[in-house]
Amino acid sequence: MRSEFRKLEQKIIQCRKCPRLVEWREKIAREKTRRFKSQEYWGRPVPAFGRPDAELVIIGLAPAAHGGNRTGRVFTGDRSGDWLYDALYQYGFANRPASIGLDDGLAMDNCLITAVVRCAPPDNKPLPEEVNACREYLRLELKLAIRKRVVVALGRIAFDAFIKIWRADGKRSLFPKPAFRHGGGWRLSEGLILISSYHPSQQNTQTGKLTRPMFHQIFALARNIISGN
Ligand code: SF4
Repeated sequence: MRSEFRKLEQKIIQCRKCPRLVEWREKIAREKTRRFKSQEYWGRPVPAFGRPDAELVIIGLAPAAHGGNRTGRVFTGDRSGDWLYDALYQYGFANRPASIGLDDGLAMDNCLITAVVRCAPPDNKPLPEEVNACREYLRLELKLAIRKRVVVALGRIAFDAFIKIWRADGKRSLFPKPAFRHGGGWRLSEGLILISSYHPSQQNTQTGKLTRPMFHQIFALARNIISGN
C-alpha cells in the first residue's frame, strides 16, 4: 500500500494538467510575498500528508498560495492549518499542535490529510473543470487507504467530491445526495462513516460561522468512532 501511495504521490507532484493553476502556482512561487521573500517556495502540486494506512482521512479544498504552495505540505503555513493541526493534536491524531514546514518533525497518528485540488488556485477558488481534473487523484488515494473508517470532508466542495467518487465507484449509499451541513454524519457501506464539517477558512472562522468548539466536535466524534467509544 505504502509503495503504491508513494508512486501516486510522485505522479501528483509532477502533474501539469491544469494550465491556469500551473501558471498561478509557479508565478506565486517566483514572486513570493514580502514576509516570505527569503524562502524557497514549493510551487508544485501538494501531495497528501500522513499515513496511507490511517483510519481517519480528512479531505480539504486546495493549498493556499503562501501556505501549502510555499511549504509543500497541506494545511501548512496558513490560518486554516493552525485550526486543523491544533484539533488533530487535541484528539490524538498528531504529535504536535502545529505544522510549520516539511522538516518540523510533525507526524500524523492514524490520520491522512488530502485535498480535492492539489495546486493553489487564485482566490482559493478552483474552477469546476480543475476540480474534475484533480478528483481522480483523490479517488486513487481513497482506494489505496484501505483501513479508512472515518472520512471528514472539510467544506462543501470536498463533500461533493467525495460523494461523486463514492457513487462513481458503484456504491449504493448516499442516494439521494445528502445536503451539506456542519456536523452531518452518514454511515456508508463497508463500515465507513462520512462526517461533514465547515472548512476552517478565515472566511468561516473570522465571521464566527465556525467556532473552535464546533470544529473540535468533529474530531471528538471521529476519535470516538475510531476508539470504539
Ligand atoms: S490541480 Fe490537480 S490536476 Fe490540476 S495541475 Fe494541479 S495536480 Fe494536476
